[in-house]
Amino acid sequence: MTNEYMCPYCRGQLKIENDIVLAVRTKTEQRGVLLLSPKLGNYRVRKHADLDLNEGEHLEVFCPMCHSNLKAINVNSDLAEVIMKDDNGDEYQIFFSEIVGEHVTFKIHDSDVESYGDDTGNYMNYFGA
Ligand SMILES: [Zn+2]
Repeated sequence: MTNEYMCPYCRGQLKIENDIVLAVRTKTEQRGVLLLSPKLGNYRVRKHADLDLNEGEHLEVFCPMCHSNLKAINVNSDLAEVIMKDDNGDEYQIFFSEIVGEHVTFKIHDSDVESYGDDTGNYMNYFGA
């Protein structure tokens, strides 16, 4: 299964081979790029050694192409949103936590909600799951 990931604003491709590429800004205005696993529920993060990420810190997450803030403003200000497209061309909304170390991912298609990660309980109210 080869899922594609896209920016909800410019629909640019966020996945290159086995990484999702996102731009981030920390509370201390440090900017950097994160490489995330495209596998839902895998929280591997790769980054430059100079980018300090502190457990529990909230990151602003941006599209590296159009620079839109990917915050899921209509759902929760601690979640970011991207689009996933599967082999069949079906599209899903993917929500994931912007908090460093918080393992939360939701995959939404119409009223279908799938959740991944240990910390989803904090957000269940937002998806009625
Ligand atoms: Zn974009």
